[in-house]
Amino acid sequence: MIRNIRSVTVICIIISLFSGSIFSESVFAGSNDFFSRENIITIAKGFASLYLLNKVNKLITEQNEPEPVFEQQIRTEKSSGISSGIDNKIIVIDAGHGGSDPGAIGKGGLREKDVTLDIALRLYQLLRAYTKARVYLTRDKDQYVSLQERSVMANSLGADAFISIHINAAENGIEKGIETYAHYNSPEEAWALAWYLQESLVKELGLLDRGLKADNFHVIRETKMKAVLLEVGFISDRTEEGLLKQPATREKAARAIYQGLLTYYDKG
Ligand SMILES: [Zn+2]
Repeated sequence: MIRNIRSVTVICIIISLFSGSIFSESVFAGSNDFFSRENIITIAKGFASLYLLNKVNKLITEQNEPEPVFEQQIRTEKSSGISSGIDNKIIVIDAGHGGSDPGAIGKGGLREKDVTLDIALRLYQLLRAYTKARVYLTRDKDQYVSLQERSVMANSLGADAFISIHINAAENGIEKGIETYAHYNSPEEAWALAWYLQESLVKELGLLDRGLKADNFHVIRETKMKAVLLEVGFISDRTEEGLLKQPATREKAARAIYQGLLTYYDKG
């Protein structure tokens, strides 16, 4: 609203300037002196008009630029103060690998442990900033943490959800896409959470949907809460490695997991 008033004011000033200079007085006829008072005023008005036109242009561009949906959503959630289902839940974010264990390494040299840590830290920031969930990381730097230490930590915290972040790799180098794991014996809620996170990641990153899978990984077997393991793309695929190298892709992945978590808790 304030912006609209500002734009209208600026437009009015421009109209008055133009009508005052171009249409009323003839600058070129009748004056031999280039530096006459009229000429200087006209030139000054011309510069002022150009400046103001530029300003209007900027205002219009700003107004037409659509705000990213995610930002709007976050702002609404924050300003409305509505408690979401995730509030007070204990969420453990597990960045796969670390330290002496680099995880998979892409042909371009990208290391799984660096990507998983970056996505985990971004997800942590989002949850801390915009929800009242109690959020923990199994590691917050490049350090080795055993699988046992990860599951023991989540169990002793009495966590509600355990989100393990990994990047996939295939020897044949041709596999692509996103898949999410729960354990063979996982309860239904774990599969539901896996479904929401998988859906959100595929939608946000636009990569191949490889679906939900069951496996026997330690962190989804030994944890007592809903536990899922995400494989966010293939580091062994040139294109996906290139994407995962970019901070923007990691931010998208973190936002997708954040959004998936909120949706899960609001529907559950
Ligand atoms: Zn891994």
